[in-house]
Amino acid sequence: MSGYTKPLPPISEQSKPFWDATREGRLQLPRCNHCSTFHTYFEPWCSHCGKEGVHWEGLSGRGRIWASCRFHRVYFPGFAAEMPYNVAMVELEEGPRLMTNIVGLPNGTLDEMPIGMPVEAVFERVTDDVTLVKFRPAAS
Ligand SMILES: [Zn+2]
Repeated sequence: MSGYTKPLPPISEQSKPFWDATREGRLQLPRCNHCSTFHTYFEPWCSHCGKEGVHWEGLSGRGRIWASCRFHRVYFPGFAAEMPYNVAMVELEEGPRLMTNIVGLPNGTLDEMPIGMPVEAVFERVTDDVTLVKFRPAAS
């Protein structure tokens, strides 16, 4: 029992390499063998070109805020103590976009996380199996 009360992602055979990497502080995603599109879903086929066949490829962990908002409603009890909290879409420099939280902001307000702001991945171990990927303002 970890004491972690927020929802946890399901780990499947297809997604296991993603979570294995985050536990080691690395970010990697499936990439199409045919058209080189990165995927943020864990399937053996490509929604861009329709062909089957992907491989895992490491990413820099650097990106920019593509969209951001603050949640003011408690959708899950585990978040109640942190209301309101931010949710952001980060566009990685390699192209794919991840839904995440921005950490390391003085107050966590939207003014502190403008669209286009450079960010870098940080890894937050929440259970023995799950290390989440979040982002903080990039060191300049
Ligand atoms: Zn493809």
